[in-house]
Amino acid sequence: MAEKRNKQLDVDKRYLRMAAIWAENSYCIRRKVGSLIVKDLRIISDGYNGTPSGFENICEDENNKTKPYVLHAEANAITKVAASSNSSKGATIYITSSPCIECAKLIIQAGIVRVVYSEKYHTDEGCELLKRAGIVVDFVEINNTHQE
Ligand SMILES: [Zn+2]
Repeated sequence: MAEKRNKQLDVDKRYLRMAAIWAENSYCIRRKVGSLIVKDLRIISDGYNGTPSGFENICEDENNKTKPYVLHAEANAITKVAASSNSSKGATIYITSSPCIECAKLIIQAGIVRVVYSEKYHTDEGCELLKRAGIVVDFVEINNTHQE
């Protein structure tokens, strides 16, 4: 049992590291967030924070404030599944940062059953909402300098 749990933890850390690498795609300067949606050990979607398709790849306005139409990494990953033939029902979402309340709503509606994140965002209202919806929420720290 303990071994199984350790294996799951290893898998979780790997996906979180991949999500962290994926976050590097983000054009956003203030914050780069990456997300992966995994089902049956298969990545069915990915996302990073950024502007919607067709908009210029600049996330911040002249006052260095994030533009209101920037989509969060998890929102991008979820909407990408919606536009594909896959279903996020029963999937796990890996995010480099804990979800905000807006993304938590999308995660619930997408039928995602587990959320794993590696960095705490300044508010935990998103995680609280997820837990109220019966979604498993796991915080897993990844140490990039450490070889797993
Ligand atoms: Zn969000």
